[in-house]
Amino acid sequence: MSITKTDFMRGMQCRKMLWLDKHKPRLRIIPPEVQERLDAGNDFGDRAMAMFGPYEEMTVYLPGRHVPDTKAMIARTQEHLEKGTEVICEAAFSNYNNYCAADILRKTDDGYDMYEVKSAPRVYEQHIKDAGFQYYIINRCKVPIGRIYIVTHGPDDEHPFAVTDVTEQAKGYANWVNQNIWALNRMQKQPDEVETEPGEQCEKPYRCWYYEYCHPAENTENTQAEEVK
Ligand code: SF4
Repeated sequence: MSITKTDFMRGMQCRKMLWLDKHKPRLRIIPPEVQERLDAGNDFGDRAMAMFGPYEEMTVYLPGRHVPDTKAMIARTQEHLEKGTEVICEAAFSNYNNYCAADILRKTDDGYDMYEVKSAPRVYEQHIKDAGFQYYIINRCKVPIGRIYIVTHGPDDEHPFAVTDVTEQAKGYANWVNQNIWALNRMQKQPDEVETEPGEQCEKPYRCWYYEYCHPAENTENTQAEEVK
């Protein structure tokens, strides 16, 4: 069981959320509007891959399934780093079983710059934390990363991408990642369900997909209120 960027961010919002992802994912209820947003984000990410011209994409799927073959992706990324490929998309790395796939790596004179693509109107702090996680893993894999950028929606169709330099802030999150990633890694493997009291974290920064599971009393109250009406 590895920790990915998504695992890490979900685990930092709530330990129990990450544990449920690993042990009881069928309890998730993803609202349709959230699913639509996730799908739209994937389309934007696909378009952004070509923002610097020709590129090589590292995505490899397991035979007959739409599930990434992370081992094959890591090996393919390594090959392209050794070849000196100019633009590498979905570049995959693993360090002590912790995993990341950077949206775009672009070659420089002394390494690579990293671009994280976000289907959003502007840069949010969460995006910089995401980039900090990617940087942490890639840096531990000894690939020199120079500048770090977030790519968001540009002002119009002629300028579809806006690029913001977040290098200092993103690199500044590496210690925070290191201070938390190992405890999350151990916690997600424990067989017993993590006990966490519901609270603010159930709604911030995103409403949790296990909300109904963790708030059964609230659901019962709502049902009773409906019946009284
Ligand atoms: S509903 Fe709240 S307590 Fe339950 S997993 Fe989600 S964030 Fe954690």
